[in-house]
Amino acid sequence: MTVAVAEETLNPYKIAQQQIDTAVAHLKLPEHVTQILKHPMRVLSVNFPVRMDDGTVQVFEGYRSQHNDAIGPTKGGIRFHPDVTLDEVKALSMWMSFKCGVVGLPYGGGKGGVICDPRKLSKGELERVSRAFMEAIADFVGPDKDIPAPDVYTTPQIMGWMMDTYSKMKGKYSPGVITGKPLIIGGSKGRNEATAQGCVYTILAALKDQHLPVQNATAAVQGFGNAGRIAARLLSEAGCKIVAISDSRGGIYDPNGLDIDQISNLKDNASILDYGESFVISNEALLELDVDILVPAALENVITAANADRIQAKIIAEAANGPTTPEADRVLFQKGIVVIPDVLANAGGVTVSYFEWVQNLMNYYWSEAEVLEKLETNMIQSYVAVRDLAKEHSTDLRTAAYMISIKRIAAAMEARGWV
Ligand code: GLU
Repeated sequence: MTVAVAEETLNPYKIAQQQIDTAVAHLKLPEHVTQILKHPMRVLSVNFPVRMDDGTVQVFEGYRSQHNDAIGPTKGGIRFHPDVTLDEVKALSMWMSFKCGVVGLPYGGGKGGVICDPRKLSKGELERVSRAFMEAIADFVGPDKDIPAPDVYTTPQIMGWMMDTYSKMKGKYSPGVITGKPLIIGGSKGRNEATAQGCVYTILAALKDQHLPVQNATAAVQGFGNAGRIAARLLSEAGCKIVAISDSRGGIYDPNGLDIDQISNLKDNASILDYGESFVISNEALLELDVDILVPAALENVITAANADRIQAKIIAEAANGPTTPEADRVLFQKGIVVIPDVLANAGGVTVSYFEWVQNLMNYYWSEAEVLEKLETNMIQSYVAVRDLAKEHSTDLRTAAYMISIKRIAAAMEARGWV
């Protein structure tokens, strides 16, 4: 069962609220529980000055949203992007709650964002923005309070600077305040690949369920950041044929399959579009290719009511957060397209972030094999639970994933005596 909406909204916060309504329609929950879940518990908005290389001072705006901490400290990345908005950060923090819930992590959801374009900042400016933002939010976060991590356009180096600023402010080494750090200062083996790796585990499971062979299964990947780039490589190593890939400037398409190593080299030196003019394809057209697997790995709202009926992929694995609107979800479900939702498909990142945090608290570090084994077990168990619940209730996988998370959070709130 779904809840009808008159007109499609692209506001991520409203979308997150609609998704909650759709899921709770299958659950018997008091109305006030739904109301709690539809809003973040706490939101911090900061403006902070940063000295630029040319001597001027620029004021940056940033946010940190903590959705719900009934199960444990809130957790989620910090994004640096010119289009960051407060509503987007709130939605992303809600999605983090459901993500942590569906893979069973002892965390609630949090998210942060700074309005800036890191591609236009020098390394020094980027460091000063990162440190100044951490300084501005330092009392709001903490290893047992709210634990940030990388997200769009933020890197292990940025996590390292932020950990350093926080540790200096608190007067003690505090690696557990943030995850996704460089290995040498408390990062976890496997964290860099974790989002893509987790996504690929769910894709392989979905291919099996659809009785589709992995060998030569065709895939299109939209986005060439940490998730898309590594997902393309891992899918190709698993035997799939990557026929299209893109970054924010556009994509390339070759029905005979692309050489992912070659494209990675091109990206490192200039642009993936240097692959050859005859291969160029737009980001929009990439989404509509007739492929077995489509991996949106960039930003929100790329599959909407406007293009959902033209999507031909058999399986969509959302490595990005929020790429599909509720209207599009309905169309895809009717068409029989399997959408592995963001809260499951990209949960590998926060799962290994959790492992990183556990290792930081113990000060005892695991091998990569140990991390990957734990990740795979958790991803597959979560996938199976979502798939089975979706079947039982005749819903899409997103709704089933939300049902699992919402039940957990509601039970935690009840056990604490909040509701
Ligand atoms: N930013 C990632 C996400 O959206 C990772 C969050 C984390 O590791 O805490 O899931």
